Amino acid sequence: MGPCLSETELISRFFNFDIPNHWPSQGIGDDCAIMQVGASRIAVTTDTLACGTHFLPDVNPYTVGRKSLAVNLSDLAAAGARPRCFFLALSLPETNLEWLEAFSRGLFEMAREYDCPLIGGDTTKTAKVGNLQAPFSLTITAMGEVKKGLTRAGAKVGDDIWVSGTPGDAYLALMLRTGEWSGVCSEHAARAMDNPTPRVALGQFLEGRASACADISDGFLKDLGNILSRSNVGARINVDALAASDDLNSRPLEQKRMAQLAGGDDYELVWTAPVCMRAEISAYAKQCPALCFSRVGEVTPSGLMLFDDKGREVKNIYHGFDHFSQ
Ligand code: ADP
Ligand code: MG
Repeated sequence: MGPCLSETELISRFFNFDIPNHWPSQGIGDDCAIMQVGASRIAVTTDTLACGTHFLPDVNPYTVGRKSLAVNLSDLAAAGARPRCFFLALSLPETNLEWLEAFSRGLFEMAREYDCPLIGGDTTKTAKVGNLQAPFSLTITAMGEVKKGLTRAGAKVGDDIWVSGTPGDAYLALMLRTGEWSGVCSEHAARAMDNPTPRVALGQFLEGRASACADISDGFLKDLGNILSRSNVGARINVDALAASDDLNSRPLEQKRMAQLAGGDDYELVWTAPVCMRAEISAYAKQCPALCFSRVGEVTPSGLMLFDDKGREVKNIYHGFDHFSQ
């Protein structure tokens, strides 16, 4: 074992090279790569779900089917893309027909809801090496169409910072299910973890209105941090302005903040937009009564400062999810 690298360090040290200038108009570092192909611009993303890492082994396969496509559609949403199609690569230790039937039902239900057909993939059996069985994993590559496309770069000093939904609910469900926190997991929290809704329509609305956008897969502050570093700016955030579910509001303040600010797996969007877009975004929010929109802060020249409603500084101890720095 060598020294421990974070996910971002690992990608930039070994895999972020040799992108010809004329090739993707946007390469590594965003939720999607964006390519110009003839007259079309295509957003492409790929995400893996591994058993034991992204879902617990005993979870309902129907929800794994839905979620595996949802997390990819969420990356397309962050790029402002209209989903077009996806590929599925499966690595299975065995052919469990009951499992596959439920998984396929969930997957195709989600595909139909977002008009995004499966058009190819790959299927392999995972090997057993000694007594160790390589775990089940699946990878989806999804493609969508954009006019110009949204990236994490482009936030400007003075822009508003917005968030959809009530981030933290999926993390709350994880903490309750693993027994880290005491209490019963509500249906709302369970749904946030098992069956997230990719914000595809919102992403398309934001294209041309937002200056930068990301989905919240690794935690609000970490994903906002990706926007800030890609845009070379900072932010000032009122943590109390972030909408919270009743479930989160009933937890101790420290748990609520940890879930909202560092909890991953939400698949909400965080975006920046010029102040002149405020009225248009608020009007759109009124058309989506089931979804909260929070204006949580503003873009500053540098640094990340957190405050509460009373203007008191909140210490940033919330680091979000990294596969290799846990
Ligand atoms: P997301 O959470 O939106 O899926 P990640 O944080 O996983 O994105 O990845 C950050 C960026 O690094 C993305 O642009 C992704 O395409 C890229 N990336 C991740 N892993 C690799 C890899 N092994 N090789 C090349 N690029 C990678
Ligand atoms: Mg993403």
